[in-house]
Amino acid sequence: MAANVTIDEDECLGCEACVETCPSVFAMDDDGEKAVVIDGANGDEDCVEEAIASCPSECITNE
Ligand code: SF4
Repeated sequence: MAANVTIDEDECLGCEACVETCPSVFAMDDDGEKAVVIDGANGDEDCVEEAIASCPSECITNE
């Protein structure tokens, strides 16, 4: 069962915590200002939950 990871870009601070925690799912955008979910990545990896917990603006969801 694939989960659906999303980032609220309006709330993202660009701190890169999620990228450092879970680089298989998250990356910075071309400008390096916002995090994005890598195409084809799903929310099954344990590190997604760690990234959600580490996000200072709580803007990552996995539903
Ligand atoms: S941890 Fe949250 S605020 Fe920081 S870059 Fe990732 S989504 Fe944005």
